[in-house]
Amino acid sequence: MTFNSFIPPQRTLMGPGPSDVSPRVLNALSRPTVGHLDPTFIGMMDEVKQLLQYVFQTKNTFTIALSAPGSAGMEACFVNLVEAKDKVIVCRNGVFGQRMLENVTRIGATPVVVDCPWGEAVDVAKVEQALIEHPDAKFLAFVHAETSTGALSDAKSLCALAKAHQCLTIVDAVTSLGGVELRVDDWQIDAIYSGSQKCLSCVPGLSPISFSEQAISVINHRETPIQSWFLDQSLVVNYWSGEGKRAYHHTAPVNSLYALHESLVMLHEEGIENSWQRHKQMHEQLAAGLAELGLEFIVPANERLPQLNTVKIPEGVDDAAVRNYLLAHYNLEIGAGLGDLAGKAWRIGLMGYAARNENVALCLAALKDALTRFAK
Ligand SMILES: *Cc1c(COP(=O)(O)O)cnc(C)c1O
Repeated sequence: MTFNSFIPPQRTLMGPGPSDVSPRVLNALSRPTVGHLDPTFIGMMDEVKQLLQYVFQTKNTFTIALSAPGSAGMEACFVNLVEAKDKVIVCRNGVFGQRMLENVTRIGATPVVVDCPWGEAVDVAKVEQALIEHPDAKFLAFVHAETSTGALSDAKSLCALAKAHQCLTIVDAVTSLGGVELRVDDWQIDAIYSGSQKCLSCVPGLSPISFSEQAISVINHRETPIQSWFLDQSLVVNYWSGEGKRAYHHTAPVNSLYALHESLVMLHEEGIENSWQRHKQMHEQLAAGLAELGLEFIVPANERLPQLNTVKIPEGVDDAAVRNYLLAHYNLEIGAGLGDLAGKAWRIGLMGYAARNENVALCLAALKDALTRFAK
């Protein structure tokens, strides 16, 4: 038996992530590997921290990239901050809110679930009611951009409410970072995590996270040790900081960090606000074209994510047949529905490097062809 090198096809990735990675980032990935404590590499890690502070719009000194995917960033926030004695208000309007809840229950903490319909933003009034009814709640946790449905929640208002009720905030920004307005310091977010493969358009496997001073103080005053060794941020921090000397914690994914650095340099060159604007513009172009094809959005217009467009699959059209056709004939990947929306919706991503004119045009032309072919 012989084994050959794996040569992947050249796809256009317009699903829920990973998104298209720019040639510049792929090029950075293939540069020579250096030791993870090499002085030049440590200098690059420092720049990654500064660039992440920029994209998160924060001065938090604890701003790093975890060597693990977005779900590990989520888990890091919960296991570091939440103890079994704590009460956590968790907003659930899709798959990732459900995953947050799973983290809270596994810790043994007490969750208060604020359920909101899938395909809609988190209801701010419902959250306020929960905060009033549970004055002992210590955290409010919610997903800024629910990738499973395409709904954008009002993170600014939710965080302001939490602060008015002396709650710390834990925010999922896996899909929102880089794609929509997000201001960690102005909005007083205490713990936030993201992923490298959505609007940062980097390869998958890294999770930028940032903790406020207040979050760090909560971690420093825990009554119980953090159950996870790998995600214990008091240990990781010595690896990402320390003047001159760095303590070994684990071997950083050196080349993946080159890639993240490059994608952040690109975002810095463009300007974060310009990036938000580009996503909005591409979304408007796509939405106009989808309307011409007769496709309807699931999410109300004022709650839509520009970077993740969820449309109803027309009556009688075979979901998998269309997606397979797009992949086989156009090398184009769009996303299937998740959870409650499985078989009922397509999720069209315009994330990071994928949020470009040529992608919008390709997607609309390919969908038009597929819909003509598979319409009943
Ligand atoms: C993709 C995603 C995650 C999980 O990230 P992984 O890198 O797949 O672990 C979490 N939350 C949201 C909102 C996401 O879109």
